Amino acid sequence: MAQPCSGLKVLVVGAGFAGLTCAIECRKRGAETILFEGNTSRRQLGDIISFGSNSGRIFRSWPRVEEKLDPVCHHSDGLEFRAFDDDFLCRQIWDSEADWGKRFNGHRGEIHGVVWDHALSVGVDIRLGSKVQEYFETDTEAGVVVNGEKIVGDVVFAGDGVRSLARTIVLGFEDKPKSSGYAVYRAWMGTEGLKANPLTAWLADPNIDHHVGWLGPDVHFLVATLQKGTACSWVLTHKDEADVEESWSAPGYVEEAVKAVQDWAPIVHAIIRATPEKDLVDWKLVFRDPLPTWISPKRRIALMGDAAHPFLPTSIQGASQSMEDGVTAAVCLELAGKANVADALRAYEKIRYPRVLATQRTGVTNREAWHKADFDQVKKNPESVKLPRQDWVLNFDASGHAYEVYKETVESLRADPGWMPDSRL
Ligand SMILES: Cc1cc2nc3c(=O)[nH]c(=O)nc-3n(C[C@H](O)[C@H](O)[C@H](O)COP(=O)(O)OP(=O)(O)OC[C@H]3O[C@@H](n4cnc5c(N)ncnc54)[C@H](O)[C@@H]3O)c2cc1C
Repeated sequence: MAQPCSGLKVLVVGAGFAGLTCAIECRKRGAETILFEGNTSRRQLGDIISFGSNSGRIFRSWPRVEEKLDPVCHHSDGLEFRAFDDDFLCRQIWDSEADWGKRFNGHRGEIHGVVWDHALSVGVDIRLGSKVQEYFETDTEAGVVVNGEKIVGDVVFAGDGVRSLARTIVLGFEDKPKSSGYAVYRAWMGTEGLKANPLTAWLADPNIDHHVGWLGPDVHFLVATLQKGTACSWVLTHKDEADVEESWSAPGYVEEAVKAVQDWAPIVHAIIRATPEKDLVDWKLVFRDPLPTWISPKRRIALMGDAAHPFLPTSIQGASQSMEDGVTAAVCLELAGKANVADALRAYEKIRYPRVLATQRTGVTNREAWHKADFDQVKKNPESVKLPRQDWVLNFDASGHAYEVYKETVESLRADPGWMPDSRL
């Protein structure tokens, strides 16, 4: 029996979570799907990455993926908050959101490996060492140039990350990152160093995963343990005006990280000093203004994931929103069919844009709630540091929503052919 997207040839650029999700969802619907990845091998780079219930729902819709993710992911029922002097503030239990579905937090490389394997198992044609150099489109097709070869399809989805070439050459926007004024030291390490120090040994508990956040003026330090007490990840977000280079592989220095929390409790210093320097990254956080559009003039090429909308880590939604993009794009393509690819891309943009914009803003509001807090007040009202857990962000079914609103979205766009996203909303 013909599947809804059979006959469609979909080209996807970038094998991050946006590209992989889009490719899996298009392939599942029967499209011939080619995924181009510039790297020559699948790389394990990164450290902790968080997927909320909204993207957890997508993982769980893929056969056997949840059971592969469970052993590598963090499992705790809440997040304990302490002040910079180690005074206990409160514990935020995730029970209020139990009905929203499971979250998955773990090492980016390990989670990426599971999703990658799933993409291969459903028949996505992943081409490594395929750095896309050019994009082109006509009214009836779109394509890419890879290693000098021109490859043509019905549509191109570009999930090529924060330094997107697609954004620059398809949409004509100069990429101008601006400093956010913050940077993050990030580490993923074994727990041998923690076990050796009585101050920190409790963190390496083989029976319980710990999740603790120490908060202070303009700095926060989050620690998570997982994999039966053998792995620990921490992130330290601090003021930094130095430059606007962002890199997941820039080296970090232990003593510089300690300086960012100079007057803090000894346990914080002990955790940082237990970190092998090779496992420490210094990642500068940048802002990019929202793009005026995510789709190309002939509506055959669309941006997705970080290429369209980078997130601050304090939104805890970057990877989740990228996956929602991939699912939504596939549903729109299915409902539009081969003859109406332009409708699919416009609907994808209109469905996703306002939701992404609103979610991006939570990155700033969440950070400010911690960093700008008056700590005398926090000690009087410790519950005030709890993370907002928005139902509209987390209790969301991207696929169901796209099926529900596709028809009315296309009708509204046909009635208003000049519609463009409004980033002021
Ligand atoms: C190496 C790396 C490590 C990361 N580590 C973390 C982490 O530890 N924690 C966290 O929260 N987030 C991390 N992120 C970011 C996080 O994965 C993304 O913000 C989020 O998942 C959105 O993913 P994306 O698919 O839009 O982009 P990305 O994950 O950035 O994926 C983009 C992909 O496109 C490929 N690509 C780029 N240009 C081309 C081209 N011209 N042709 C073909 N392929 C191309 C890149 O090689 C990359 O694989 C990391 C990203 C990267 C690239």
